[in-house]
Amino acid sequence: MATKEQAIESSVDSTAPNADATRIAVENPATGEVIAHVPVLSPDDVAALARRGRAVQPAWKALGFEGRSRVLLRMQKWMTDHAERVIEVVMSETGKAYEDAQLADWAYGVAAFGFWAKNAEPYLADEKVSTASPFVKGRKLVLRHTPLGLIGVIGPWNYPVTNSFGDAIPALAAGNAVILKPSEITPLTSLLLLEGLHECGMPEGVMQVATGYGDTGAALIDHVDMVMFTGSTATGKRVMAQAAETLTPVSLELGGKDPMLVLADADVDRAANLAVQYSMFNAGQSCISVERVYVEEPVYDAFVAKVTEKARALRNDASTGPGTADVGAMTFSNQVEIVERHVEDAKAKGAKVLVGGHRGHAGRSGSWFEPTVLVDVDHTMACMTEETFGPTLPIMKVADAEEAVRLANDSPYGLGASVFSKDLDKGEAVARRLEAGAVCVNDALVNYLALELPMGGAKASGVGYRHGKGGITKFCQHQSILVTRFALKDEPQMYPYKKGVTKGLQKAIRFLYGRGKRS
Ligand code: NAD
Repeated sequence: MATKEQAIESSVDSTAPNADATRIAVENPATGEVIAHVPVLSPDDVAALARRGRAVQPAWKALGFEGRSRVLLRMQKWMTDHAERVIEVVMSETGKAYEDAQLADWAYGVAAFGFWAKNAEPYLADEKVSTASPFVKGRKLVLRHTPLGLIGVIGPWNYPVTNSFGDAIPALAAGNAVILKPSEITPLTSLLLLEGLHECGMPEGVMQVATGYGDTGAALIDHVDMVMFTGSTATGKRVMAQAAETLTPVSLELGGKDPMLVLADADVDRAANLAVQYSMFNAGQSCISVERVYVEEPVYDAFVAKVTEKARALRNDASTGPGTADVGAMTFSNQVEIVERHVEDAKAKGAKVLVGGHRGHAGRSGSWFEPTVLVDVDHTMACMTEETFGPTLPIMKVADAEEAVRLANDSPYGLGASVFSKDLDKGEAVARRLEAGAVCVNDALVNYLALELPMGGAKASGVGYRHGKGGITKFCQHQSILVTRFALKDEPQMYPYKKGVTKGLQKAIRFLYGRGKRS
């Protein structure tokens, strides 16, 4: 039987020894118990799903925005009616705290079904375009968006609703069929939501779930019209390279190393509270977690004291319901090794552990790492330069905002960032200097909840965006239409070319564009 470790190995190499080639054992990471088995779909299975998806997609498209929205809105109600079941399944395969599953998976999903049901039509409505070109003045110019056909969504394990359905929903709302390849670590939530969609009237085959390891994801790339990938930067590169072979468009939401900058005039209490909350939320397994903090010298001691006090009080345990634990298990056991490596590397290079620092949980099996606060860190340490993706908060003292900005930008990643300052203009000015796809001032992470606001990574953190208008037009073919209504049988600039007309045209263009000063 494949363990989770073997499963992830085989996501890269299907020939991994001991990997069960036909089924995946899904574990509860809070206990280490196997809770279900799901099949591994072969390339032939994926091809069959693709044929089915393509066969039913035209009828789904023909339903129009209203017909599709009806199904999505029913699903929104299904999600609210089945809140406890969705949260329970998410918790069972991720080991996260009840509140983390409620806010960042269930509540996000509820909002997303409604958001795309309502906004797909206005976002994808034909756009009238006007032009300054004298050659086509008076023509009707229209940009339209038509569904690409079959979309492949490949998801990670950290948020099984949000990072898979967050894209599947707009793809469906646009009129596409979707095949979702959930992470092999957390496939159960996708299967539950698929069941819900069918109960809500989604025609069979429009949305399909292809469970399996990385090879199943790789097979999907060859069959779809567009790949929406969320996962690590390393896998994202492989996905993009494979998609290039068939010129299949990709959108990639990848890893991050989000910095928090605490300026000397910050509300230190708020900054410290948010630093703890958003470094430990989901056991630190958020692409936009606070992964490193830079604090200006005058408030460094106060900030560290508050963070330490708050982090020490966190209940790191298996959640049994609302209010029972703060920081849950780590979802993927291999991730524990990475977190441990980063903490040990930091310690060996002189960092001090103020809180936590150890793997495991007394009295529990499963995948655990203590909420950990590190100080005396610098950029020679992996905890400040590589994605840790765990419940760690390394804090570095900086001389001033300039140093904070320089260090924040000293990263191959550029997903999110946050700046804390009571001077909002200053905070925003600093935010604008950060190389990140999204920056919060006096806040962190919550930009993700504004579905109207595009979210995407700079540098090695991604290609493309989710949310906002671009979050649905990416699943469409853009078609520009030009209609000439009133026209001559022939136009003067056409064949045969005539010297007089050519000279006249040049004169006209020079008159139109050539006047004015040269400076
Ligand atoms: P991963 O890259 O290991 O796997 C992601 C998915 O890709 C899985 O479903 C996996 O089976 C599949 N896969 C693996 N090899 C493949 C291949 N060759 N072709 C096609 N599919 C393949 O990522 P993960 O460990 O599941 O997720 C954690 C990572 O995801 C972190 O780096 C995190 O930052 C990132 N992430 C990014 C965002 C974002 O929005 N930017 C959101 C969540 C997670």
